[in-house]
Amino acid sequence: MLALRLGESPLRFAETWFSLGRLLLAMHLLYLDDAGSIGNSSEKHFILAGIAVFERQAHWLQTELDSLAGELVHGDPSSIEFHGNSMLAGRGRWRSMRPEQRRALIRRGLRTAWALHGQWRLFGAVVDKQARSPEDPVAYAFEQVCSRFDQFLLRLHRQNDTQRGLIILDKSTQETRLQSLAAEFRREGHRWGVTRNLADVPLFVDSRATRLIQYADLVSYALWRKFEKSDSEFFNVIAGAFDQEGGVVHGLHHFKRQGSPCDCSACVLRF
Ligand SMILES: [Zn+2]
Repeated sequence: MLALRLGESPLRFAETWFSLGRLLLAMHLLYLDDAGSIGNSSEKHFILAGIAVFERQAHWLQTELDSLAGELVHGDPSSIEFHGNSMLAGRGRWRSMRPEQRRALIRRGLRTAWALHGQWRLFGAVVDKQARSPEDPVAYAFEQVCSRFDQFLLRLHRQNDTQRGLIILDKSTQETRLQSLAAEFRREGHRWGVTRNLADVPLFVDSRATRLIQYADLVSYALWRKFEKSDSEFFNVIAGAFDQEGGVVHGLHHFKRQGSPCDCSACVLRF
């Protein structure tokens, strides 16, 4: 594939190598999943959230979640998929467990990131759809998360730790506006400036193929339970893990109706 094909211009070949080279640099990966349906007016929020890990950490988080899955099944742990909504509702293979067991498993799933030794942090945007109207809440959440991830990478760069960022989204989110936003994203940059630190267009992967997307699902579900259902049990596990510096939370953004009270760290420790 990489051989210079007959008739291919050397310039085109060099561009291909340049693109690959950028992907081969040390990299921070941001895995994201969404919660909340845009078309469903009975739901108040749209949420986009997940975890950013240094590339070498991805393997270890995968291993931690595999190990948790291994406790639940004899045989192939990959047959267990962590998905917050199905777990809490007791659907499919979760049906045989008691509700408190399923809740405990969601909390344990969220805690697996604490076994990582290197850099990791959470990012998320919670958008009250009505409060943001008529703006597209998906575009707004996507820009917020990309911008905050970009700022985090810029901070690393200023500390002489230059890394590229790559955004990886659950394939199921393609049905939403995210697919077209991802395509526009590199071309136009986000509204606060060009995303200089992001390596390429976001990728879409199947949640069954990587535990990291399943972890992102648990994070977005924890936010969903807190903001949509007033159930803070899962959010409390991860509340302190959103990107922050000097006591200011940058990694979590909550857009709500002006003046409405909120105790989340994004509102209390406002960027
Ligand atoms: Zn808040």
